[in-house]
Amino acid sequence: MKLLISRTLTDDVMRRARAEFDLLERDTSTSLGRAETIEALHKADILLPTLGDALGAEAFTGDGLRCKLLANFGVGYNHIDVEAARAHGIAVTNTPGAVTDATADIAMTLLLMTARRAGEGERLVRAGKWSGWHPVQMLGQHVTGKRLGIVGMGRIGQAIARRAHFGFGMQVAYTSRSPKDMPFPAEALPLPDLLARCDFVALAVPASPETHHLIGARELAQMQPHAVLVNIARGDVVDESALIHALQSHRIAGAGLDVYEFEPDVPPALRALQNVTLLPHLGTATEEVRSAMGHMALDNAIAFRDGHPLPNPV
Ligand code: NAP
Repeated sequence: MKLLISRTLTDDVMRRARAEFDLLERDTSTSLGRAETIEALHKADILLPTLGDALGAEAFTGDGLRCKLLANFGVGYNHIDVEAARAHGIAVTNTPGAVTDATADIAMTLLLMTARRAGEGERLVRAGKWSGWHPVQMLGQHVTGKRLGIVGMGRIGQAIARRAHFGFGMQVAYTSRSPKDMPFPAEALPLPDLLARCDFVALAVPASPETHHLIGARELAQMQPHAVLVNIARGDVVDESALIHALQSHRIAGAGLDVYEFEPDVPPALRALQNVTLLPHLGTATEEVRSAMGHMALDNAIAFRDGHPLPNPV
């Protein structure tokens, strides 16, 4: 079977893919554009796509698509129109679980960096402008014991909650579609109450029509002025221009962002602000995790090839 991997994965995963399939490789780190996607769907039995590949409804046009499986690399699949794929007889799988701990770690990185002004401090030292320790230099916010609100209490949300509770003695509240049974107190709150009561708010929902701009001007106005927003979910869960305005006007104290509404574009107005921590979508960016994700995507491809049930259908 022909497998097309849209962007080169770790060596370990590429070796296994070459051994298992007639592999069509793309020697580039850019995502698949529209024309290339359509071509890929015509020439490969299985496509292993990555974030940002153009797999919206317009990719699934015409008859005679050879592809029968999109074995997505990543848990988030908002770049794929799953219904349109299904209508063309194409199944979709993803890589849940493999990404959970690494992404929760990045959420805590952003929370701590923003609360403790670590990015700002690092820029000060690098610029040679640090004049030395003094008792009221760069005072940030204490994290231990504070209240963290998690929006989207799924795998990653719960991993953030565990870190916050066991590591930092934080009180955890959450907003999700269904109640969760956590091994420590975690209060389920409607979103407006969570926003109004928490010192830190972390977003961990999937991107979907329901979560598009879940956090906009109205929601930011419901947060406390000292509160910090962390987004490791997807950029368009937040209305980015409303967030910029809230940060510029000190309506909220800060934000820690791994994802952006028009990624990889990060507005100059956002980059100009000191009270934000900006990471380049590092959620799962470790060798181990990217290999685990790649192997999970290959497991789905191999199960499909061998006629077995798909381990991770979406
Ligand atoms: P998950 O286990 O499916 O969790 C998602 C949670 O969001 C679920 O608890 C779900 O509620 C909740 N939810 C969905 N729609 C909601 C809504 N409208 N309002 C409130 N809660 C809602 O997914 P996951 O593995 O934790 O991943 C979450 C997302 O993180 C992914 O979809 C992906 O976009 C993003 N992500 C980002 C990175 C990165 O590199 N920054 C890495 C990995 C993942 P129920 O449990 O009640 O269904």
